[in-house]
Amino acid sequence: MLRLTIAMLGLIGFMVAPAAAPVPITSDYGETRILRRSFGSGMIVSVSKHSGIDFGAPAGTPVLSASFGTVVDVSFTACSGGSVIVKHPAKHQPSTRSGPGGAAGLGQDIFVIYVHINPSVKKGDRLTPGQTIATIAVSARLPCARGDHLHFMVSYKQRKLAIHTLNPHRFWVDGSYQLSCYDKGAIYSSKKFAIISPIKCK
Ligand SMILES: [Zn+2]
Repeated sequence: MLRLTIAMLGLIGFMVAPAAAPVPITSDYGETRILRRSFGSGMIVSVSKHSGIDFGAPAGTPVLSASFGTVVDVSFTACSGGSVIVKHPAKHQPSTRSGPGGAAGLGQDIFVIYVHINPSVKKGDRLTPGQTIATIAVSARLPCARGDHLHFMVSYKQRKLAIHTLNPHRFWVDGSYQLSCYDKGAIYSSKKFAIISPIKCK
């Protein structure tokens, strides 16, 4: 009887214990978002799909380059703070399907976009995976960021529009949907587009 009780407690413990996530994803790609904004005496409700992955981490946390590439844009807005757009060198991508969540067409460039950050790189810089490119910005000063986090996007256009984004989970170095941590000793290839986590794993 005692044994059974311990076994049952063990099972309950297993069921409620949260999985140890290597990085804190606070909002995933494709999640539905409902925004309510008051407009005069009325209210505007907009529904959208999240265009990237949010990695929640305190302001000042280093942001790592997720891939090889060249910085093609560093910009700032009062709403979102700093952002960096990196162009990957590979021209040939694995699929011809395009559109949200799909893959870029053959011969299309791929861009990795980092938002709500304090960039430490400049246009023209060449990056390798794991290189520090920014720190997470203080969100309290940014009306378009709720809580300190990195908004991380993969896109087939050099633009931050949701309609051009691809699901980042398709491109992890270790395989689709296998979130890949930066490994200092690993040798990464620039030939195929693949990414590592832009936030250091625990
Ligand atoms: Zn986001």
